[in-house]
Amino acid sequence: MIAVQISKAGGNFEVVERPIPEPGRGQVRIKVDACGVCHSDVLVKEGMWPGIQYPRVPGHEIAGRVDKIGPDVTLWKPGQRVGVGWHGGHCFECEPCRRGDFVLCQREKITAIHFDGGYQEDMVAPAEAVASLPDDLPADQAAPLLCAGITVYNSLRNSGARGGDLVAVQGIGGLGHLGIQYARQMGFRTVAIGRGADKQGLAKKLGAHEYIDGAAGSPAEGLQRLGGAKVILATAPDSKAMSALIDGVAPNGKLLIVGAGFEPLSITPLQLIGGRKAIQGWPSGTARDSEDTLLYSALTGVRPMIERYPLEKAAEGYQQMIGGKARFRVVLTMS
Ligand SMILES: [Zn+2]
Ligand SMILES: [Zn+2]
Repeated sequence: MIAVQISKAGGNFEVVERPIPEPGRGQVRIKVDACGVCHSDVLVKEGMWPGIQYPRVPGHEIAGRVDKIGPDVTLWKPGQRVGVGWHGGHCFECEPCRRGDFVLCQREKITAIHFDGGYQEDMVAPAEAVASLPDDLPADQAAPLLCAGITVYNSLRNSGARGGDLVAVQGIGGLGHLGIQYARQMGFRTVAIGRGADKQGLAKKLGAHEYIDGAAGSPAEGLQRLGGAKVILATAPDSKAMSALIDGVAPNGKLLIVGAGFEPLSITPLQLIGGRKAIQGWPSGTARDSEDTLLYSALTGVRPMIERYPLEKAAEGYQQMIGGKARFRVVLTMS
């Protein structure tokens, strides 16, 4: 089979031939139909994850079909359509696992960090990391929902916002263009915050009721004029822009962070205390959360906007993504 691997930190994408892997105990082999290219693939490409071992096959937005099951797998059968996302398995024994909070597992496995991901024709994943895929969702459309989609869907549905509340989505990119669609479908008064007047048409098309142009004025003031946001979903990994949003949060509201940046936020305690405001981060979710995401998307018509590249052109697809030129998710498809 063909795999695209990185063999050292900072190395290039290498198209190689490998033997088809065998599923071990509790594992499932998946014939990959499509794999999304996520910004977090930079962790594999550049070796930014402590302890990552090479060679490693990137890709944690996988849609495909069960091909073979290992011993002790009871939930999955060959032929089933499935997906795998960022959360690649858990230990069932640590404190969060014993409380059923698997995504916070202290020995969490991450797809394409701790085992090879979806930039290949066949992959093996722990059975608990596998989600079933609705029949009416094509693989290339489903793939980005397994990281970008679940992250915004799962954070929004657990945010405490209720139908009719004002929810703002900052950033109209890979995460944001899905966040706007989910926010609209969940019944929120949806405000998109982008940069430039030219983004307004797209934001409205995705379902935003209102558009705030962050290049033309302060988004926090714009939100205050609308009454303040119960939740601001911050998707663009720009800590300065995120910090500036806090004054647009309504009393008892929260800044909900999913855009993974490295720079510190700059928010004073006083900006939080008066309005009893909160700042929260959110990781993606479990395989079962992925299923909810996929079913909800199939039901409501939420879809990613994608650019397809054949697996062999993974390097080109990655370049398109990392250069910020993709509109909005790059997906590798297998022939
Ligand atoms: Zn991702
Ligand atoms: Zn655990």
